[in-house]
Amino acid sequence: MSEFKIEIPLDVAQKCVKCGLCKSVCPSYHGEEGSYARGRLALAEMVVKGEIPLNSDVAQQWNECAMCRRCEWVCPNDVHYRDIFIKARELQGKELGRDLISRAGLGSLNFMQSGVGRKLMKISGRIAKLLPSEIKTPLPSGSVKFMPKPSAEAFGLRGKVFKAKEEKAKLLFFTGCMIDVFYGKTGESVIKLMNSLGYTVIVPEDIKCCGAPHLYHGNTEAFEKLKEHNLKEMDRYEFDAIVVACPTCGGALIEDYGRDWEVRDFAELIFKDTEKLKFKGANEKLTFHVPCHSYTAMSVNPSVFYLVMERVENAEVVKADKAQSCCGFAGLWSIKNPKLSEKVQMEKIEDFNTTGADYILTSCPGCVLQLRDGVRKFDSSQEVKHLADYLAEALEEG
Ligand code: SF4
Ligand code: SF4
Repeated sequence: MSEFKIEIPLDVAQKCVKCGLCKSVCPSYHGEEGSYARGRLALAEMVVKGEIPLNSDVAQQWNECAMCRRCEWVCPNDVHYRDIFIKARELQGKELGRDLISRAGLGSLNFMQSGVGRKLMKISGRIAKLLPSEIKTPLPSGSVKFMPKPSAEAFGLRGKVFKAKEEKAKLLFFTGCMIDVFYGKTGESVIKLMNSLGYTVIVPEDIKCCGAPHLYHGNTEAFEKLKEHNLKEMDRYEFDAIVVACPTCGGALIEDYGRDWEVRDFAELIFKDTEKLKFKGANEKLTFHVPCHSYTAMSVNPSVFYLVMERVENAEVVKADKAQSCCGFAGLWSIKNPKLSEKVQMEKIEDFNTTGADYILTSCPGCVLQLRDGVRKFDSSQEVKHLADYLAEALEEG
């Protein structure tokens, strides 16, 4: 056995019975055994046992994992892949150092949520007002991505309480970095929908990143600091449940914050009270991308999204064959692995095109970013929207 300071839980890895089922759902699989869960677990075991060194070849295979956790979702033997890989990446970071993109990406998430960062994002948003909503951005890998520009109203919802007319309960809205900085309108849509259901919505003043990106990169120290900060901030408010419109934040709050909270995707709350709201479309066809972390990390049943969409009068819902496959974003993964990401993204866009839908809806701001980038890159005419935005627009008042 190798003497590493960080232990990879081999007992969890050894639950793998090598059935290979996870290969069929893995967005990073490209023909090599080390490019999906079974092979990555085997590499981790060999590293821990000292049979192979932890070198850049192993790191490459591990870095190619999108941490979508679809392997966990299909695994018949309940292998908690995530728990092993957080530790494997922590070890990798300590032994080999962190790559530049991870350091810069995670650092910028921290900066955006700082006092100076918040001001700077607002100023950038005002300056960028005349630019198109997605800006063609060169990436360090040499490829390009259509990135959203910061909103002029970045962090505009923070520290406010949005009261329902007849309040039945209070929700704490954990907005998440992408809604705070880029997609403030989606935040407003969630609030409008929740208020219509009778929930008063509290947006805390000073929550920071949920820490999931740090945790999935094995930076457990940074995650613990963010968690401690967020718990302290959230404890200042009285609320009955937490609502999210980003399943990665939701997953972290459920699995890693150690509290007995009720954490709900906004669509689950609409579904729960499905008769209360009326939606009317304009004779459009809708299709949906199910974000991986909604059914892996948050355990939301994907049919909830479809049943909510089917409540919209005068709109048709068409299911895409690959609705539940990864969109190829996975945060920094798409920047670190642009070829793999674009391959997955192209397959998704081609699949959505076959539905003939006017709108591709989804419930994660990261997936919105990736799919908008995809429709631009692969010349699709479909419009991508967060489900909350579509529903808030289709909501019939009163
Ligand atoms: S599905 Fe589970 S048990 Fe089967 S190879 Fe993958 S990780 Fe191992
Ligand atoms: S987390 Fe996703 S990308 Fe990583 S091995 Fe599992 S299915 Fe593949």
